[in-house]
Amino acid sequence: MDSKLAEDLAEVTALLNVVSVEAAEVLRGLDKRPVAMTPQPQRAAALPDIGHGLRQALSEFRRRWEPRFSGSAGPRYLGFVTGGATPAAIAGDWLTSVFDQNAMSGGDSAAIELERETIDWIGQLFGLAEHKGAFVTGATMSNFVGLAIAREWLGEQLGLSVAEDGVGALGQVPVLSGTPHSSIFKSLSMLGIGRSSVRSVPTLPDREAVDVDRLADALAALSGRPAIVVANAGTVNTVDFDDLRAIAALRQRFPFWLHVDGAFGAFAALSPEHAHLVDGLAAADSVSVDLHKWLNVPYDAAVQFTRRQDLQVRAFHNSAAYLTAPTGAPDFGHLVPENSRRLRALTAWFTLTAYGRAGHRDIVQRNTSCAAQLGEALTATGRFRLLSPVRLNVVCCTLADRPTPERVHALVEAIADTGETFVTPTVYNGIPAIRAAFSNWRTTPADVARAGAAISKAAKGLQ
Ligand SMILES: *Cc1c(COP(=O)(O)O)cnc(C)c1O
Repeated sequence: MDSKLAEDLAEVTALLNVVSVEAAEVLRGLDKRPVAMTPQPQRAAALPDIGHGLRQALSEFRRRWEPRFSGSAGPRYLGFVTGGATPAAIAGDWLTSVFDQNAMSGGDSAAIELERETIDWIGQLFGLAEHKGAFVTGATMSNFVGLAIAREWLGEQLGLSVAEDGVGALGQVPVLSGTPHSSIFKSLSMLGIGRSSVRSVPTLPDREAVDVDRLADALAALSGRPAIVVANAGTVNTVDFDDLRAIAALRQRFPFWLHVDGAFGAFAALSPEHAHLVDGLAAADSVSVDLHKWLNVPYDAAVQFTRRQDLQVRAFHNSAAYLTAPTGAPDFGHLVPENSRRLRALTAWFTLTAYGRAGHRDIVQRNTSCAAQLGEALTATGRFRLLSPVRLNVVCCTLADRPTPERVHALVEAIADTGETFVTPTVYNGIPAIRAAFSNWRTTPADVARAGAAISKAAKGLQ
């Protein structure tokens, strides 16, 4: 054994204690770390021939990298929809690596039983108790898997199997959606269905939610040809929700697979005040839910749910003489793109066990009230106007005065330069805008006040 490796093994308790003290310091200081930064590029170090051992590696990391990592896991990072990691989720993540289980198949460990228990809990949170699911790396992969099952379903409608015969056998696939996430296009590209298969359906006036009557018209125009409908439960810009119940009802008239992208919007189900936004979610054939966003587990984790696991197995099964064949409860290696896979469920299991439904409901409710608070505070300055109501956890707004691309770009930079908070730019209805998204478990009203002050100060300083 390499001598450094042998030394680290002998000293493992002491070494991990050092790492844990260091980690706790980082967590305690997260609030003071710059929320975002533009790191200056550094020269890459040479690959060590003789290693330095863990203690030295840790000090190298502290010296060269740690100061250049942002506080994006902290309470005032409002870019994209980012989330953080609860203490229990971090513990789960550490133990995932410690046990290093391969969650591909059962038979030699209870790991996949833990994954099944966790998926069942998550299904209960979202009213998807009748769906089956699996962990994947993010909502992009969740959308990919959902659409792969949809593709297999289309084959079934035409009496063929895409998994066996290839996507060419399907011909052109109509994919109908109002305001799909960029990852839908990426998934369609990976699936051989193609980005240009998306037929954009008009949305309601001044909304990102699909106009269900226009969707019905688009389906009618297909004259009975089966299609995929991607419904959106929480759009990124304005967190708008398609009317899932009304869309699902259209299946009585037209043949289509209903995929719902609820990456973060599905969490509305946890808050009694907002649960109506996802009414009808359970009617979906497949559903995407991200966990590294609003469940506040570390990257990377999401779940995909479906009612047709039989079709999923057709698309993803992985057969070899030394592997178990898919059964009524198929191994995860038969359900998702990965074969060998990390036990991603453990972070979610820990945070749900530690804080329960109520603890996670509190995160959602606190984040939504923080978003409302920021929306009101920014409007009250007179420098901003909202581009949509704050429906859930995102404030989408622009400068009240001359919201030109240049001024909004300068605003985003000036906000980041304060080190106090971080928001991301967007364009909504052709208007350059900013988005502030709340999804971190630590955020308090005091953080909102600080972020709001930083944002309005940045606006005040604009030319
Ligand atoms: C974030 C997001 C995705 C993609 O999720 P990743 O975790 O980045 O892969 C898909 N859809 C929606 C609505 C999202 O917000």
